Amino acid sequence: MRVRIHRGAHEIGGNCIELASGTDRIVLDVGRPLSAGWDDDVPLPDVAGLAGGDPTLRGVVLSHPHLDHYGLTAQLGADVPVYMGAEAERVLQAATFFSPISRAPHLAGHLSDRARLHLGPFTITPYLIDHSAFDAYSLLVEADGRRLFYSGDLRAHGRKGGLFERLVAHPPTVDVLLMEGTNVRADGRASAPSSERSVEHDLIERFTSTEGMVAMFSSAQNIDRLVTAYRAAVQAGRTLVVDLYTATVAAATGRPSIPQPGFPGLAVYVPQRQRVRVKESEEFDRVKNIRDVRVFQEELLREPQRYVFLGASSAAGELVRGGVLAGGTAVWSLWHGYLTQPSGQRLVQLLQRAGVPLYEHHTSGHATLADLQRLASAFAPARLVPIHSEATDRFGDYFGGVEPHADGTWWDV
Ligand SMILES: [Zn+2]
Ligand SMILES: [Zn+2]
Repeated sequence: MRVRIHRGAHEIGGNCIELASGTDRIVLDVGRPLSAGWDDDVPLPDVAGLAGGDPTLRGVVLSHPHLDHYGLTAQLGADVPVYMGAEAERVLQAATFFSPISRAPHLAGHLSDRARLHLGPFTITPYLIDHSAFDAYSLLVEADGRRLFYSGDLRAHGRKGGLFERLVAHPPTVDVLLMEGTNVRADGRASAPSSERSVEHDLIERFTSTEGMVAMFSSAQNIDRLVTAYRAAVQAGRTLVVDLYTATVAAATGRPSIPQPGFPGLAVYVPQRQRVRVKESEEFDRVKNIRDVRVFQEELLREPQRYVFLGASSAAGELVRGGVLAGGTAVWSLWHGYLTQPSGQRLVQLLQRAGVPLYEHHTSGHATLADLQRLASAFAPARLVPIHSEATDRFGDYFGGVEPHADGTWWDV
């Protein structure tokens, strides 16, 4: 079996890996680089058949529903078989209405935990893992009697950390471990230890100590964070008010354990931008379906101390203008780097002018260096190939058997 990383050998995101056995090939992930702007056209990686018409390309397997792993799928040829998790597909389908770039690819089949998938000479075994994206997998690929394990994006400190522990307790035997290293840093600094549980703890304190309303900005597709925010709100005696996007995605998971409309202590607010979207599309059932749990600004204004808003930061302007954040606080629950970008800077200034303090409560979707070391020593692979990292040249300082490979070059497993 031969392998060629197309993107990801020296950057976080935009992952694309081609594997070949004889003349047959498969591709793991076709991600959009994180460096690309929303409007930038990014060409497909240089893989024969991605645009269609080449049956030797047996399929594209997507590890999880983050744009930096599936974001170029809209450009694939219609005859290219694509696979991802069924729940991941549902989340993307639900998100598309609010975020057109999230469009789910048309799938030939679904991944599910430990269920083998045969594509030509390749056998792919998905391992459900803990990550900030819902329904995320690591992928074991076998062909020609050789075995490669692709970590995808994973962590041990989310709400499903048990999946990581299960993997390190019973790792498959492999020849090559292709491992993400988001938190392997060029400066050698370890990331601060935190977890979804510590975020929950900090949020309870924040919700309890705030006199007015708390507005928490997060990603609607980060289901772990929704669960964390809901648990914290319940424990602080507040109602969690999610935006319509978050409510829609939560319901689309199909999991009765995920907080969604109908849960006690959960309400829905429809921000201006989402109201306009509903009106333009004339899909009025979207608001009709949540009318029993819908709250309006007047209710938030009357008793702001009763509520925590969780949703897109684009709602911040109307919450400030409506006065519901007077005496309240804002919580940034996304990657810190977004705050330094123009839209993040606008939010910071808006809140500053309104005198609303902004706090950050967040934890990474990616394993800490220490957890990556646990993963690597559990697998004890003869060869460890770095991916999804800006510091692949530092891997040798922390792991054994490191064998870096540049984008675009073929190597043997
Ligand atoms: Zn990623
Ligand atoms: Zn990811």
